[in-house]
Amino acid sequence: MAKGSLSSGAIDPTALEAESLQAIGAATSTEALDEVEATLLGKRSALATAHRRLGQLDPETRRSAGRELNDLRARLEAVIAERRAGLRADERSAVLEADRLDLSEVVLEGLRTPLRRGHRHLVTSTRDALEDVFVAMGFTVAEGPEAETDWYNFEALNIPPAHPARGMYDSFYLDVGEPETVVLRTHTSPVQIRLMEAAVAAGSIPIHSVMPGRCYRRDTADASHLPVFHQVEGVVVDRGLTFADLAGTIETFTAAYFGPEVHSRLRPAYFPFTEPSAEYDITCTICLGAGCRTCSGTGWLELGGCGMVDPAVFDAAGIDPLEWSGFAFGFGIDRCAQMRHEVADLRNLLESDVRFLRQF
Ligand SMILES: [Zn+2]
Repeated sequence: MAKGSLSSGAIDPTALEAESLQAIGAATSTEALDEVEATLLGKRSALATAHRRLGQLDPETRRSAGRELNDLRARLEAVIAERRAGLRADERSAVLEADRLDLSEVVLEGLRTPLRRGHRHLVTSTRDALEDVFVAMGFTVAEGPEAETDWYNFEALNIPPAHPARGMYDSFYLDVGEPETVVLRTHTSPVQIRLMEAAVAAGSIPIHSVMPGRCYRRDTADASHLPVFHQVEGVVVDRGLTFADLAGTIETFTAAYFGPEVHSRLRPAYFPFTEPSAEYDITCTICLGAGCRTCSGTGWLELGGCGMVDPAVFDAAGIDPLEWSGFAFGFGIDRCAQMRHEVADLRNLLESDVRFLRQF
């Protein structure tokens, strides 16, 4: 009967209570709940308006209707208070959560997310592929230190102090011992000297080895230069080797790695540690020799350097240049990856951006 008395007025208390509970439940922050509370219980609320209109009712109806409105207000206030306590707790723990890494949650999240399998970096996979080609050709793989003495990096390679060729290898020196005696190696060539010394000591010449590794030069990074880069060098020491053996080795490698349609050519050049020396080009991998923008219309791309081991280098390593002959070659692994996979900017290889790396 009480309901009837109010229903005849401005509001339907059953509908108002249902609507109010829905609005309270829909508030997802204490701030939103404050607004809901003002709408439901404030001076301009339907409830307050109904209260004001009680005076228009006859005394008996007014009493029961008033009690009904007060009960409804009390119930809504209780529900709002409970909701506010819950939202406050959520908000507090969200703040705490932001400051604290819950490892159990991370693990659970990891279990829920399907695992994505990673793979080797493009430089590593290129290095591995190059090693495979050379191993198949009968070479062994050797490594050496990245911090080298001046002797191994320069002097033993026929680059004495103040030699103008040092200008080709602007270098990073380490601040240890005598100034400018320990250098981040500027090429993998020092490993050749170490190999030759070890082979002399062990009496194990001939040598057929490749030496892949990281090198450093004080280059400003741009699309085709990096201050840290990867090189692979090869050295062969045996009796009676000629330039034809060198050219044949490079041609065999080029076809094996880049494919049978890619060939090599040698151009005369100068390196302190080889005599005679050559730079070697390969068929442009973009146009296959027809001529394009990448190869400046020549159909060739420069890949590396090579030559017959200089007798002065053999002397430094303790090998008799009258008995033994040798050839060496080297090129950039990064540049190889760039050519084979058409990477526009070498800096991508250092940036570890998975959107780039995922493509290979
Ligand atoms: Zn081309």
